[in-house]
Amino acid sequence: MAKVNQNYLKLPGSYLFSEVARRISAYSAANPNAKIIKLSIGDVTRPLVPAVIEAMHKAVDEMGAAETFRGYGPEQGYDFLREAIAQYDYKSRGVDIASDEIFVPDSAKSDCGNIGDIFGVDNVVAVCDPVYPVYVDTNAMAGRAGDYQEELGRWNKLIYMPCVQANGFSPEIPKEKADLIYLCFPNNPTGAVATREQLKAWVDYANKNGSVILYDSAYKAFITEEDVPHTIYEIEGARTCAIEFRSYSKTAGFTGNRCAYTVVPKDLERDGAKLNALWNRRQCTKFNGVPYVVQRAAAAIYTPEGQKQTQEVIDYYRANTKVIMDGLSRAGLSASGGVNAPYIWLKTPDNMGSWEFFDFLLEKANVACTPGAGFGPSGEGYVRLTAFGDAQATREAVERIVKIL
Ligand code: PLP
Repeated sequence: MAKVNQNYLKLPGSYLFSEVARRISAYSAANPNAKIIKLSIGDVTRPLVPAVIEAMHKAVDEMGAAETFRGYGPEQGYDFLREAIAQYDYKSRGVDIASDEIFVPDSAKSDCGNIGDIFGVDNVVAVCDPVYPVYVDTNAMAGRAGDYQEELGRWNKLIYMPCVQANGFSPEIPKEKADLIYLCFPNNPTGAVATREQLKAWVDYANKNGSVILYDSAYKAFITEEDVPHTIYEIEGARTCAIEFRSYSKTAGFTGNRCAYTVVPKDLERDGAKLNALWNRRQCTKFNGVPYVVQRAAAAIYTPEGQKQTQEVIDYYRANTKVIMDGLSRAGLSASGGVNAPYIWLKTPDNMGSWEFFDFLLEKANVACTPGAGFGPSGEGYVRLTAFGDAQATREAVERIVKIL
């Protein structure tokens, strides 16, 4: 008889966002007149910008003519996109990343999970708490997380690094030795960022211990403060210890278009192997590239019009962030994040539990949020609000929250 991967059977009930969606649907079904505004899931709402649409139309026409038709593309991504990334996302920040250190997948979510393929099962994994659930669940699926302890809401083999008010929502270097360390800045869900000094301490730790930092900067487009690093490679020594994940999902509204990139420096070696070569081998075997039309769309973001138009969209969401932060402050609530990130991390009032406050907000204000507890034990007592909604709807949601509180 075929055997299943037993690790899947250890996964707890449901993926966080499915549970949020289930509760919203159940409430809507019972209250068909309720006009629910979702400040919950981190999906964008603004359309693709004209420069991107134009590039896609042009690429579609190319696909329809024999002379310009493209079949299978390079598994690593087309050079025109990899070179644009190296130039505009790295060189412009004074960072040298060669185009063959850049891999273009359809999704940062997939790559954050898939990267585990090149690492052994017996690595010790450290994650922030709260955390983007994908890092935890994919390590659990691979057998690196051990067993799930229902009563504690955590896996017994993972190192959880609490990110709480007392440490400014920034993880402290663990006492135990960690081999794989997931860091995400600007952070989902807390919206916190890391300073140069904090990242330098992580890089030094990783180089000293032979660890690898898996650095997710999917939200770097939302950084507003001058000295916040945009990429871990701005930190000296990162090329020998860090892999970076980026995504066009939030930068350019690509959640439905699907394109991202992953940087694996050629200087990064562990166990006598170059990780760039291992990742290349993995991609060539298991992945056949992002559609040509979508890669042309991504490249259009780097044109002057593309830059200007995508910045306008980011500014639109930033204005929402401000509306939410101002409203929460008027309601006398304590919130952080929201300055360099599209996420606001709200402390629930009156010591309410995360899911309790979720239900309260849904019933009393018809506003959906994401319960912090779903991101890990240290998220209990918080909820996450997102700025990706329609501006008018966001204003209305905030007024409703202020009114009931
Ligand atoms: N990384 C983080 C921290 C995220 O929050 C998300 C999406 O919510 C992703 C990655 C996923 O990016 P993509 O849409 O490219 O899969």
